[in-house]
Amino acid sequence: MKISTDYKTDNYNIYVEDNALNKYLTEYTARYSSVFYLVDSHVYQLHQDILLSSIDAPILLSPGESCKTVESYARTIEELIERGIKRNSLIVAIGGGATGDLAGFIAATILRGVDYIHVPTTVLAHDSAVGGKTAINVPSGKNLIGSFYRPQCVIMDTLFFNTLPDDELLSGYAEVFKHAMLNSEEEADRLMTLHNKAIDIDRLSESIEMGIKTKLRFVNKDEHESNERRYLNLGHTLGHALELNNKLFHGHAVMFGMLYALYVSNQLNQKDIFDVSRYATYFQSIGLDFSKIEDTAFEDLLKYLLKDKKNTTENLISFVLLSNYGECYVKDLSIEEVKKYYT
Ligand code: NAD
Ligand code: ZN
Repeated sequence: MKISTDYKTDNYNIYVEDNALNKYLTEYTARYSSVFYLVDSHVYQLHQDILLSSIDAPILLSPGESCKTVESYARTIEELIERGIKRNSLIVAIGGGATGDLAGFIAATILRGVDYIHVPTTVLAHDSAVGGKTAINVPSGKNLIGSFYRPQCVIMDTLFFNTLPDDELLSGYAEVFKHAMLNSEEEADRLMTLHNKAIDIDRLSESIEMGIKTKLRFVNKDEHESNERRYLNLGHTLGHALELNNKLFHGHAVMFGMLYALYVSNQLNQKDIFDVSRYATYFQSIGLDFSKIEDTAFEDLLKYLLKDKKNTTENLISFVLLSNYGECYVKDLSIEEVKKYYT
């Protein structure tokens, strides 16, 4: 399946299907005199014999988040320069969101910008590969250095999902579910039917297509995140605090954060639009482990909540809430209010 972005210029295609890599990559690489592959080393180890057998002389990056450092950025740039990268070369990133973020930032900045393609290998990267944000981390925080830079295309080969550990699969699915909530009740129900009791890898493509189209709708309106794009942070305020404090997978924390945001939305709307306990039961049935957040004191989360990047006013915490499915707003809550709804 092919989805195209809808910007005024510089649009790109996003392919999501089994065997997409072998089907579409050469059509793009053939346009360039030199191509450089930046590949998550763990993904390469798992897939070098079949899916990645035609990838020539890859530069292997340390797996996952550990590649998003200033040191890794500088080292990889040096290697690309030594290997003779030119302005008209192509960079192909193969890996999860972390590989895409680093490789995208390298592509945006090396020689003042070369073209790149992202080949996402995780479910979560249906989110990170679309929308053009690239970033690396510094010791004081995540994604604090970065740029907006669109790829030439995104090739999501769903065969990579077969080697994803269950926790990573669930973590990525959380963002798919978030996109459904930003869409409609029907989309959320549809996901719960398609992936009833467990995530069905064979039926993920169409769910991911819904996720990507939803994300693009927000990004097309507000690429640089001054307005609607912020709504994509549904579940991420409490989610980030739990992720950091309780050392959870990102998406697992976002699921808890979404439940909280839906509960607060009901309270502020003064009607029970969202059946929070139904969603909680569903998340649990597909593997979300509620014991990981049991007995988490509000005070332990508060320091992270107060540092949330969305906050604009001191001592107020910014949340994305819903007045209905697909109808979002941002609301600044006082510490007392956030605590009241938490307990
Ligand atoms: P990741 O890239 O860190 O990968 C997670 C783990 O899965 C790693 O250990 C990796 O080696 C492994 N892995 C990847 N593909 C695999 C496969 N097919 N089989 C087995 N193992 C595999 O994680 P992620 O969840 O894909 O992405 C998270 C990153 O994305 C974070 O750095 C986050 O900041 C970023 N992100 C960016 C955006 C954006 O808009 N740019 C949006 C959301 C998230
Ligand atoms: Zn997220």
